[in-house]
Amino acid sequence: MATRTEYVYSLVPRKETYVHAEPDWIEAVPPEMLCTACKRINDGWFPRAIDVVARNRFSGWMPSMWWVAVEISCRNLVALLEPYLRHFSFGQCLGEGGRIDPKYVTMYHRPYILLHGDEYTSYRTCRVCKATWYNCKGQRSIRALRSDFAAHPIRQDSTGSLYVTEEVADIVVAKCFKQMKLIRIPLDDARPPGWTGVGEEFDYQIPVPWRWQDDP
Ligand SMILES: [Zn+2]
Repeated sequence: MATRTEYVYSLVPRKETYVHAEPDWIEAVPPEMLCTACKRINDGWFPRAIDVVARNRFSGWMPSMWWVAVEISCRNLVALLEPYLRHFSFGQCLGEGGRIDPKYVTMYHRPYILLHGDEYTSYRTCRVCKATWYNCKGQRSIRALRSDFAAHPIRQDSTGSLYVTEEVADIVVAKCFKQMKLIRIPLDDARPPGWTGVGEEFDYQIPVPWRWQDDP
């Protein structure tokens, strides 16, 4: 049966909010969980949960965590999309004072997808964990592979960003369009010529100094 889906959508909050990862937590997480360089989630950790510790309050529908590529979502959004998230692993969010914030969860799945652009798009690959991400000048050339959405209508890339099919996008528009927006990405059946899935090796390091100024 032909599918009407010709696009997928990047799912992003209308209001960007940020939460700072607790430096002591970042330094204490096992190297099997997060890459020691780029702080992306290692493939081998799946499906174990990832519990994050922040040093300030979570807010918004999808707060970004500084320094760490772990996607955080509010439970309202997860409840709305729950039938489409069965391949995800969920973890807890601990906020100020180490208390669990019951309104938020971490979420990830493996394998992650890699969007691609045209022949002018470059890719970068972390020298340590080999996670790859694209490095495009402008969004217009970005494409997603149709087959990446054959089994699951919600996928993530290596940074934790979420991409949804039209079926899921319809739910977002109907139920939470004030909170979330959708950025359209054309589906493509093929990678561009010369695509290898591996980019220039890159030493990604957390910017220094990354601790807050009030830290000793
Ligand atoms: Zn890495």
